[in-house]
Amino acid sequence: MAIDFSFGPEVEEVRQRVRHFMQTEVKPAESDDLWEDGNRRKLVETIIMLRQKAQQSGVWLPHMPREWGGMGLGPTAVAAVSSEAARTRLGAFVLNCQAPDEGNMHTLLHFGTDEQKQRFLKPLCQGTARSCFAMTEPEVAGSDPTLIQTHAVADGDDYVINGHKWFISGANGAHFAILIARTNADADVPQERNSAFIVDSKSPGWTIVRDIETMSGGHNHCEIRIENLRVPKQNLLGRLGGGHELGQVRLGPARLAHCMRWLGQIELALEMMIDRASKRFSHGSLLSEKQGIQWLIADSGMELYAAKLMVLHAAYKIENKLPYKIEVSYCKHHVANTLWRVIDRAVQVHGALGYSTDTPLSKMLTQARWARFADGADEIHQMRIAQLLIQAYGESGSVKRATGDLPL
Ligand SMILES: Cc1cc2nc3c(=O)[nH]c(=O)nc-3n(C[C@H](O)[C@H](O)[C@H](O)COP(=O)(O)OP(=O)(O)OC[C@H]3O[C@@H](n4cnc5c(N)ncnc54)[C@H](O)[C@@H]3O)c2cc1C
Repeated sequence: MAIDFSFGPEVEEVRQRVRHFMQTEVKPAESDDLWEDGNRRKLVETIIMLRQKAQQSGVWLPHMPREWGGMGLGPTAVAAVSSEAARTRLGAFVLNCQAPDEGNMHTLLHFGTDEQKQRFLKPLCQGTARSCFAMTEPEVAGSDPTLIQTHAVADGDDYVINGHKWFISGANGAHFAILIARTNADADVPQERNSAFIVDSKSPGWTIVRDIETMSGGHNHCEIRIENLRVPKQNLLGRLGGGHELGQVRLGPARLAHCMRWLGQIELALEMMIDRASKRFSHGSLLSEKQGIQWLIADSGMELYAAKLMVLHAAYKIENKLPYKIEVSYCKHHVANTLWRVIDRAVQVHGALGYSTDTPLSKMLTQARWARFADGADEIHQMRIAQLLIQAYGESGSVKRATGDLPL
């Protein structure tokens, strides 16, 4: 029997170490006032202090190889660590595995030249720089990158870039951006229209217009104007026309990394739901004794269980260099929707308290909403899943290959 769902002792030890670090260091430092206006300095100092402790405790940079100062963990171990970190608000940031830096590190490691790695990847790994990833534009559907209008034109030793981006997470304070721009509008294959560039954010022509106010406030998701921005040719990342493939390589594991963090949030919401239901009394019994509430708890447990299996299996496939596209789409759709439903149910069980800002649920709910369309909207994943299912059936007369290729 080759199926074994336990982690090896070394991964379990790391998971426990991260859990302990989150409980004893990060959680106690996360006072509510850290996020109040005027407390930015305190927030930054807290992060710096916690990051030093993370380095001393050997829980720094879980997803990167040891030669880059990381813990050298594979995707399944990173799943374990990321979901532990996500049980706190600052966890991923403290371990230096937060979006979008985590995805950018993978991208630079995979596609960067030695010079690009030294200049841009090294400071990211050391935690002395931050970055952003600039692809989405207000004028065209972000779901279809072949429509990107921001364009780069070769001029001497540079590319000159003009365009408009928005919802660029972490842009304020980022030292550089990985920017996707159109380099050949007439490419035979539409996916070869775009290329990726590393843009120094101090370059003239890179202007942050605003930090977009969202339904959960301003969180450094910025609108950016790009006007006659000159980028040296050596800052092309990957091959000319390789922007789409770079995005795919980046987004597969990055989507799964989101799912890993969401697992921690789902678990937390379910635990809060059970805790509240076990203490609140109404109409002669505790809420936890009412069948209607038990169904909410049971449905959440079933969905979380399926979400964990999906994440572990997709991570296993990536780790073992097996095809993982459809598994990541299943995961992204299922986990994002489970996140939304379980937090919503937890709000329901908390009643007015759940709607207040006295518990973390209100922030968790508004944050959860974007999970269903960012990094691939639900419908795009459904479209891809359906295409791959139809293809598998057409080629083999069976959907087995496109449902995890499991031995069932
Ligand atoms: C909090 C947050 C952070 C983000 N961070 C970044 C970032 O750092 N960098 C970056 O580049 N972008 C970022 N984004 C943008 C994000 O990637 C886009 O929102 C996403 O790709 C969808 O693009 P869009 O918003 O243009 O929606 P659209 O593409 O206009 O889609 C809108 C809706 O239309 C439907 N739809 C679209 N296409 C189809 C289709 N083919 N079939 C059926 N239905 C369809 C879906 O319901 C979809 O939700 C962020 C967004 C948010 C909210």
